[in-house]
Amino acid sequence: MKKRAILLLSGGIDSAVALYLLKSRNYDVVAISINYPGRGERERESARILAKLTNTRLIEVDIPFMKEIVELWNNKEERPEHLRDAHPSTIPARNAIIYAVAAYYAEILGINIIVAGHNADDTKYFPDTSRMFRKIISRALTIGTHIGKTKGLRVIAPLSKLNKTEVVKLGLKLGVPFEYTWSCHNNYDKPCGQCSGCLARKRAFDELGVKDPLEEAINSGRDWWLLKKKSLLKP
Ligand SMILES: [Zn+2]
Repeated sequence: MKKRAILLLSGGIDSAVALYLLKSRNYDVVAISINYPGRGERERESARILAKLTNTRLIEVDIPFMKEIVELWNNKEERPEHLRDAHPSTIPARNAIIYAVAAYYAEILGINIIVAGHNADDTKYFPDTSRMFRKIISRALTIGTHIGKTKGLRVIAPLSKLNKTEVVKLGLKLGVPFEYTWSCHNNYDKPCGQCSGCLARKRAFDELGVKDPLEEAINSGRDWWLLKKKSLLKP
Protein backbone atom coordinates (compact mmCIF):
# COMPACT_ATOMS: atom_id res chain seq x y z
CA MET A 1 0.00 0.00 0.00
CA LYS A 2 1.16 3.50 -0.81
CA LYS A 3 2.40 5.56 2.12
CA ARG A 4 0.12 8.48 2.92
CA ALA A 5 0.77 11.83 4.55
CA ILE A 6 -1.00 15.07 5.32
CA LEU A 7 1.16 18.05 4.38
CA LEU A 8 0.66 21.58 5.62
CA LEU A 9 1.13 23.52 2.40
CA SER A 10 1.43 27.30 2.47
CA GLY A 11 2.68 28.14 -1.00
CA GLY A 12 6.07 29.16 0.39
CA ILE A 13 9.41 27.58 -0.45
CA ASP A 14 9.70 25.17 2.48
CA SER A 15 6.34 23.46 2.16
CA ALA A 16 6.72 23.33 -1.64
CA VAL A 17 10.03 21.49 -1.23
CA ALA A 18 8.43 19.21 1.38
CA LEU A 19 5.66 18.44 -1.14
CA TYR A 20 8.12 17.46 -3.87
CA LEU A 21 10.21 15.49 -1.37
CA LEU A 22 7.17 13.44 -0.32
CA LYS A 23 6.21 12.88 -3.95
CA SER A 24 9.76 11.74 -4.76
CA ARG A 25 9.43 9.24 -1.91
CA ASN A 26 6.20 8.01 -3.46
CA TYR A 27 3.83 9.34 -0.81
CA ASP A 28 0.18 9.84 -1.50
CA VAL A 29 -0.24 13.38 -0.15
CA VAL A 30 -3.28 15.31 1.04
CA ALA A 31 -2.34 18.98 1.42
CA ILE A 32 -3.94 21.36 3.88
CA SER A 33 -3.74 25.07 3.32
CA ILE A 34 -4.73 27.33 6.19
CA ASN A 35 -6.41 30.56 5.16
CA TYR A 36 -6.13 33.25 7.78
CA PRO A 37 -7.14 36.86 7.11
CA GLY A 38 -3.63 38.32 6.73
CA ARG A 39 -2.59 35.73 4.17
CA GLY A 40 -2.24 37.15 0.68
CA GLU A 41 -4.24 35.88 -2.27
CA ARG A 42 -1.10 35.18 -4.28
CA GLU A 43 0.24 32.83 -1.60
CA ARG A 44 -3.11 31.01 -1.44
CA GLU A 45 -3.12 30.67 -5.22
CA SER A 46 0.48 29.39 -5.13
CA ALA A 47 -0.59 26.53 -2.86
CA ARG A 48 -3.43 25.71 -5.27
CA ILE A 49 -1.10 25.62 -8.27
CA LEU A 50 1.53 23.52 -6.51
CA ALA A 51 -1.17 21.04 -5.51
CA LYS A 52 -2.51 20.92 -9.06
CA LEU A 53 0.96 20.44 -10.58
CA THR A 54 1.60 17.45 -8.33
CA ASN A 55 -1.86 15.97 -8.58
CA THR A 56 -2.36 16.50 -4.86
CA ARG A 57 -5.71 16.88 -3.15
CA LEU A 58 -5.87 20.26 -1.42
CA ILE A 59 -8.11 21.04 1.51
CA GLU A 60 -8.41 24.73 2.35
CA VAL A 61 -9.33 25.59 5.90
CA ASP A 62 -10.44 29.06 6.90
CA ILE A 63 -9.36 30.19 10.34
CA PRO A 64 -10.75 33.71 10.46
CA PHE A 65 -9.59 34.68 13.95
CA MET A 66 -5.92 33.89 13.37
CA LYS A 67 -3.70 36.97 13.16
CA GLU A 68 0.01 37.77 13.26
CA ILE A 69 1.15 39.80 16.22
CA VAL A 70 1.95 42.74 13.92
CA GLU A 71 -1.77 42.87 13.13
CA LEU A 72 -2.87 42.38 16.71
CA TRP A 73 -0.84 45.27 18.08
CA ASN A 74 0.32 48.41 16.32
CA ASN A 75 3.80 48.39 17.77
CA LYS A 76 6.20 46.47 19.92
CA GLU A 77 5.53 48.57 23.03
CA GLU A 78 1.82 47.75 22.98
CA ARG A 79 2.43 44.03 22.99
CA PRO A 80 2.29 42.11 26.25
CA GLU A 81 5.75 41.69 27.72
CA HIS A 82 6.20 38.04 26.79
CA LEU A 83 5.67 38.89 23.10
CA ARG A 84 7.85 42.02 22.84
CA ASP A 85 10.82 40.19 21.36
CA ALA A 86 8.79 37.74 19.33
CA HIS A 87 9.23 37.63 15.53
CA PRO A 88 6.70 40.03 13.95
CA SER A 89 5.06 37.28 11.93
CA THR A 90 4.43 35.16 15.02
CA ILE A 91 0.85 33.89 15.20
CA PRO A 92 -0.14 33.08 18.78
CA ALA A 93 -0.03 29.30 19.36
CA ARG A 94 0.06 28.86 15.57
CA ASN A 95 1.28 25.31 15.29
CA ALA A 96 -0.70 24.03 18.26
CA ILE A 97 -3.79 25.13 16.31
CA ILE A 98 -2.62 24.02 12.87
CA TYR A 99 -1.42 20.57 13.99
CA ALA A 100 -4.79 20.07 15.69
CA VAL A 101 -6.59 20.97 12.44
CA ALA A 102 -4.35 18.51 10.58
CA ALA A 103 -5.15 15.87 13.21
CA TYR A 104 -8.86 16.40 12.54
CA TYR A 105 -8.30 15.47 8.88
CA ALA A 106 -5.85 12.71 9.84
CA GLU A 107 -8.60 11.11 11.89
CA ILE A 108 -11.17 11.45 9.11
CA LEU A 109 -8.88 10.26 6.33
CA GLY A 110 -7.09 7.55 8.30
CA ILE A 111 -3.67 9.09 7.73
CA ASN A 112 -1.14 8.90 10.53
CA ILE A 113 1.64 11.21 9.38
CA ILE A 114 1.39 15.00 9.46
CA VAL A 115 4.20 16.82 7.69
CA ALA A 116 5.25 20.39 8.42
CA GLY A 117 7.69 22.30 6.24
CA HIS A 118 9.70 24.00 8.99
CA ASN A 119 13.40 24.54 8.35
CA ALA A 120 16.30 24.91 10.77
CA ASP A 121 16.10 28.73 10.68
CA ASP A 122 12.50 28.70 11.96
CA THR A 123 13.45 27.20 15.31
CA LYS A 124 15.44 30.35 16.15
CA TYR A 125 12.28 32.46 16.18
CA PHE A 126 9.28 30.21 16.67
CA PRO A 127 9.11 27.94 19.72
CA ASP A 128 6.31 25.92 18.14
CA THR A 129 8.64 24.72 15.38
CA SER A 130 10.96 22.92 17.79
CA ARG A 131 11.62 19.20 17.60
CA MET A 132 10.55 18.82 21.22
CA PHE A 133 7.17 20.41 20.52
CA ARG A 134 6.56 18.04 17.61
CA LYS A 135 7.63 15.08 19.70
CA ILE A 136 5.31 15.92 22.56
CA ILE A 137 2.33 16.89 20.40
CA SER A 138 2.80 13.65 18.42
CA ARG A 139 2.57 11.77 21.71
CA ALA A 140 -0.56 13.69 22.73
CA LEU A 141 -2.23 13.08 19.34
CA THR A 142 -1.30 9.39 19.48
CA ILE A 143 -3.06 9.09 22.82
CA GLY A 144 -5.94 11.36 21.95
CA THR A 145 -7.12 10.15 18.51
CA HIS A 146 -8.43 6.84 17.19
CA ILE A 147 -5.98 6.81 14.29
CA GLY A 148 -3.25 7.50 16.84
CA LYS A 149 -4.34 4.65 19.09
CA THR A 150 -4.42 2.32 16.10
CA LYS A 151 -1.31 3.35 14.19
CA GLY A 152 0.34 6.18 16.11
CA LEU A 153 0.04 9.75 14.86
CA ARG A 154 3.24 11.65 14.17
CA VAL A 155 3.99 15.24 13.28
CA ILE A 156 7.26 15.32 11.36
CA ALA A 157 9.34 18.04 9.71
CA PRO A 158 11.72 16.43 7.21
CA LEU A 159 13.45 19.75 6.42
CA SER A 160 14.03 20.75 10.03
CA LYS A 161 17.78 20.12 9.89
CA LEU A 162 18.29 22.19 6.74
CA ASN A 163 18.64 25.96 6.62
CA LYS A 164 16.84 27.93 3.92
CA THR A 165 19.75 27.68 1.48
CA GLU A 166 19.92 23.91 1.89
CA VAL A 167 16.14 23.69 1.44
CA VAL A 168 16.37 25.59 -1.86
CA LYS A 169 19.30 23.39 -2.93
CA LEU A 170 17.22 20.29 -2.26
CA GLY A 171 14.26 21.84 -4.08
CA LEU A 172 16.38 22.51 -7.17
CA LYS A 173 17.43 18.86 -7.13
CA LEU A 174 13.82 17.75 -6.84
CA GLY A 175 12.68 20.04 -9.66
CA VAL A 176 10.47 22.30 -7.55
CA PRO A 177 8.99 25.00 -9.82
CA PHE A 178 10.04 27.91 -7.59
CA GLU A 179 8.34 30.44 -9.87
CA TYR A 180 5.06 29.20 -8.36
CA THR A 181 6.16 29.72 -4.77
CA TRP A 182 5.68 32.91 -2.79
CA SER A 183 7.74 34.15 0.15
CA CYS A 184 6.79 37.81 0.57
CA HIS A 185 4.79 38.77 3.67
CA ASN A 186 3.15 41.62 1.80
CA ASN A 187 0.18 41.20 -0.43
CA TYR A 188 1.51 42.83 -3.58
CA ASP A 189 1.69 41.51 -7.13
CA LYS A 190 5.48 41.43 -6.99
CA PRO A 191 7.70 40.53 -4.02
CA CYS A 192 8.49 43.66 -1.97
CA GLY A 193 12.17 42.71 -1.69
CA GLN A 194 12.34 44.19 1.82
CA CYS A 195 10.46 41.92 4.24
CA SER A 196 12.09 39.05 6.14
CA GLY A 197 10.46 36.54 3.77
CA CYS A 198 11.89 38.20 0.67
CA LEU A 199 15.33 38.70 2.24
CA ALA A 200 15.62 35.09 3.38
CA ARG A 201 14.62 33.89 -0.07
CA LYS A 202 17.09 36.17 -1.81
CA ARG A 203 19.91 35.13 0.51
CA ALA A 204 19.24 31.44 -0.18
CA PHE A 205 19.36 31.82 -3.98
CA ASP A 206 22.34 34.19 -3.78
CA GLU A 207 24.30 31.76 -1.62
CA LEU A 208 23.74 29.05 -4.20
CA GLY A 209 24.64 31.39 -7.05
CA VAL A 210 21.34 30.57 -8.75
CA LYS A 211 18.82 33.01 -10.20
CA ASP A 212 15.44 32.86 -8.49
CA PRO A 213 12.98 31.53 -11.13
CA LEU A 214 10.28 33.83 -9.73
CA GLU A 215 12.47 36.89 -10.23
CA GLU A 216 13.38 35.71 -13.75
CA ALA A 217 9.72 35.18 -14.62
CA ILE A 218 8.83 38.68 -13.38
CA ASN A 219 11.75 40.31 -15.20
CA SER A 220 10.89 38.62 -18.47
CA GLY A 221 7.15 39.33 -18.25
CA ARG A 222 6.29 35.64 -17.87
CA ASP A 223 5.10 35.76 -14.28
CA TRP A 224 2.00 33.54 -14.02
CA TRP A 225 0.26 35.84 -11.54
CA LEU A 226 0.64 38.98 -13.66
CA LEU A 227 -0.30 37.09 -16.84
CA LYS A 228 -3.41 35.76 -15.11
CA LYS A 229 -4.37 39.23 -13.95
CA LYS A 230 -3.85 40.65 -17.42
CA SER A 231 -6.04 37.98 -19.00
CA LEU A 232 -8.77 38.71 -16.44
CA LEU A 233 -8.65 42.39 -17.37
CA LYS A 234 -9.17 41.66 -21.06
CA PRO A 235 -12.66 42.51 -22.27
ZN1 LIG B 1 8.48 40.87 0.79
